[in-house]
Amino acid sequence: MAQGATVSETPVRRTIQVTSPATGARLGEYPACDREAVAGAVARAREAQRTWAALGFAARARILRNVRDRFVDEKDRICDVVSGETGKPRHDVITNELLFLCDAIGFWAKRAEKYLADEPARPHLLKNKRVYVSYLPHGVVGIIGPWNFPFNLTIGEAIPALMAGNAVVIKPSEVTPGSAVLGAELARAAGLPENVLQVVTGYGETGQHLIELADMICFTGSVATGRKVAERCGQLLKPVTLELGGKDPMIVLRDADLERASSACVYGGLANAGQVCISVERVYVEAPIYDAFVEKVVEKVKQVRQGPPEAGVVEVGSMTFPPQIDKVERHVQDAVARGAKVLAGGKRRTDLPGLFFEPTVLVDVDHQMDVMRDETFGPVIPIMRVGDEEEAIRLANDSRYGLDASVWTRDLARGARVARRVQSGAVCVNDVMVNYAVTEVPMGGWKESGIGYRHGKGGIRKFCAQQSVVIDRFGMKSEINWWPMTAGKVKLFRRALDFFGSGWRRKLFGA
Ligand code: NDP
Repeated sequence: MAQGATVSETPVRRTIQVTSPATGARLGEYPACDREAVAGAVARAREAQRTWAALGFAARARILRNVRDRFVDEKDRICDVVSGETGKPRHDVITNELLFLCDAIGFWAKRAEKYLADEPARPHLLKNKRVYVSYLPHGVVGIIGPWNFPFNLTIGEAIPALMAGNAVVIKPSEVTPGSAVLGAELARAAGLPENVLQVVTGYGETGQHLIELADMICFTGSVATGRKVAERCGQLLKPVTLELGGKDPMIVLRDADLERASSACVYGGLANAGQVCISVERVYVEAPIYDAFVEKVVEKVKQVRQGPPEAGVVEVGSMTFPPQIDKVERHVQDAVARGAKVLAGGKRRTDLPGLFFEPTVLVDVDHQMDVMRDETFGPVIPIMRVGDEEEAIRLANDSRYGLDASVWTRDLARGARVARRVQSGAVCVNDVMVNYAVTEVPMGGWKESGIGYRHGKGGIRKFCAQQSVVIDRFGMKSEINWWPMTAGKVKLFRRALDFFGSGWRRKLFGA
């Protein structure tokens, strides 16, 4: 298909200028890869994939463990680049990008072979066949990543794809391309064969080219772009997984441990300046504990330190993406205009040069407000009083999203019961966001939060095509359903069909 038919007609931009969102300093320039460049990368990946797949699980695992060592050795350099591009504190890069990623490398290196081993099946009918399911790499996986965790959601996403025997081409966000570029460069230096993991930097158009050319697409980002990606993959009949936004509810029941719940609320709402798809985006608190809970949250939010990465230890950095801070401001202004009260923060920091929005607590909020309906993706905690558990569940489910949620109660059976009724791909009881670190179980969204999962068995099988293999065991000259058809065979089949009817069963078993 011609390039112009599938790629938007905006003027071609040949480079990306990257600046620090915390200070405005210029960080670097990267090429905006056109179709030819993406096609070149995919062709090289396709070539390299054959040898990579042929290496087998043990050899791939050994190489990826070397890559992990390299990431550990180069953690300061990685912190410089990731923190520089995103404006997040350096310790956040260690805890929320590198620790997860290094753990995930070990996880997939150890379990990939087991998860992707041929799976035997025992046919209930055709006992003369040997049957199994194979999981075979798609070939070239295209990963399109966002800017909020630019190392983990690009290089980290690539790890199970690589362990499955694919080659990977990453298209990172235009806002944070340097993180994936550095990750791929370090992986190569650690012994990952050339062209097995490549990065094509660029704008949305580069992502569109990758969709055309790769064999499978793994996308993380917004619902709006995810929809476009899914549409195009649908037209091309290409496998795709989408991890999109969330509007994750926190339900605090009257018997909750308020100390723990309020600390979790502050961390879950403000970590990474709220730019986390599984962050606490809205809070529902049962009336009897509402005032005490709000008081604790406000007190703790006011103690949070905010500033650029260079400012020493701060908990909250800048926002990353310029349009994002406008969106956060719009949500807060909309809420205030409709009657919400600001108990902490509420506006941009004007004393700092970068994209800083004050850690904010809102009360007197309701579901007419954008801040309770659309993904805010910023350091804003809107808290709503509810009459009881039923109302909390109803409001939690009044959302087009369903990625993550949390329930807070000292009664664990009650927590599990409420969790079951929340429409969400994951629910934590007395914890927040922690399911991301539980690599054994699937993480994915219901409703508009996405299609498909990362983590767990399915988190690596998605990078494979399934193949069912049926092998005849006895090698007879013919099978009963093969031709020539005879009157005897027809009679036999008719009797076999009758067996499925209830008349036979009644006669035989009286039921
Ligand atoms: P997008 O969904 O627009 O971008 C995600 C990735 O897709 C980027 O690499 C982007 O490239 C690329 N892309 C953009 N257009 C296309 C296209 N037509 N085809 C293929 N790839 C494309 O997210 P934004 O960065 O614009 O963030 C907007 C909102 O998304 C945020 O406000 C937040 O609500 C949500 N979000 C959710 C995330 C999550 O973890 N689920 C992560 C980040 C954002 P480029 O950056 O060059 O445009």
